[in-house]
Amino acid sequence: MNDAAAPPPAPRPEVIAPGAWLGLLGGGQLGRMFCMAAQSMGYRVAVLDPGADSPAGTVADRHLRADYLDPAALAEMAELASAVTTEFENVPAAALDFLARHRRVSPGAASVAIAQDRISEKTFLAAQGFAVAPHAVLSSAADARAVSGALLPGIVKSARLGYDGKGQVRVRTVDDVVAAFATMGGAACVLEQFVTLACEVSVIVARDEQRRTTAWPVAENRHRDGILDVSIVPARVADGIADEARRTALAIAERLDYRGVLCVELFVTDAGRLLVNEIAPRPHNSGHYTIDACVTSQFEQQARVLAGMPLGDTRQLEPAVMVNLLGDLWFAAAADTTPREPDWTQVLRHPQAKLHLYGKSEPRRARKMGHVSCLAPTLAEALDVARTIKRDLGIPFAGDL
Ligand code: AMP
Repeated sequence: MNDAAAPPPAPRPEVIAPGAWLGLLGGGQLGRMFCMAAQSMGYRVAVLDPGADSPAGTVADRHLRADYLDPAALAEMAELASAVTTEFENVPAAALDFLARHRRVSPGAASVAIAQDRISEKTFLAAQGFAVAPHAVLSSAADARAVSGALLPGIVKSARLGYDGKGQVRVRTVDDVVAAFATMGGAACVLEQFVTLACEVSVIVARDEQRRTTAWPVAENRHRDGILDVSIVPARVADGIADEARRTALAIAERLDYRGVLCVELFVTDAGRLLVNEIAPRPHNSGHYTIDACVTSQFEQQARVLAGMPLGDTRQLEPAVMVNLLGDLWFAAAADTTPREPDWTQVLRHPQAKLHLYGKSEPRRARKMGHVSCLAPTLAEALDVARTIKRDLGIPFAGDL
């Protein structure tokens, strides 16, 4: 990492008292959990989202059901909300820019824009001296043909709108790279060298208007078909790796001059190196355990920063294992076409399991429908409960937990 002078102390921000309106762009489950946290602190929440029965829209105090760039809806949001945040990175920067002319917006459009695009994300991280996987930018078919063999085998990833492993193609040869680039419709991509991973981890940090920072413990993340399956916290990595991961995430927040909650996903290579994979300018699926296992959840922290309130304590009170519940659970057999409600007694018979469902009316395969956090005095016990719940619900295992 490059050295940078510490920023000057920032003035105290205007404090927004409970009772006021907070605004949220986006209506997914992250927004729903933000609404619930902010509402429990006494705030009212207005959600701008085009969906009819979005998870956040249905719990918000007001749902402005419109496109993110709808001028009337943006004007209404600017009038109503004292401050505005977002729950997903693909919200148009122009909407954040408009709102920022009237209200506090965190995170700012510049941070969101960097995370929206893999090329700007990788360029930013590498320029700031953070280690990332070896990669090349593919802007044309000629770039695809000219890639270095040192990057193969690799993964071609679309620069924009990729999430949960979507917009990614594994490649072994230069011909594969050319073909993968063509399947992306000529849009810019990144070719990343395939790295042998010991594990994947993430760190969630928060940085407030006065540039104070805090970090939660490191989560160890297991994916299945490119989608987060389980988060194990604290991560089973050496203390030195966990410390470096947290330092790296905090340094990224500083270099972005970030305000709000930020997630940094990292690879731990089998050689014990940390590489930054992605940053998400918002709370993250791998931080859902904070709701039940920490003094302050990632969503409460998002509300605190937005309101100009002091940061909450991120201490973890008990080891936790979070299991994602995807729509596949509603289709017990592969051939099922009609969804059936899973037997939730299989979860709730464990007194230390905390069930969260996102209120999505239509279960679909691979759709995130909810999660369960398993808490216990030891990580071994929390893992046992998570394994039992997965087995009883019929959620496949991607390797040992
Ligand atoms: P991403 O959308 O970039 O987070 O990628 C989705 C998943 O693919 C990651 O969580 C990793 O499991 C895997 N993956 C992505 N990039 C690489 C890489 N360069 N080397 C090895 N595995 C990768």
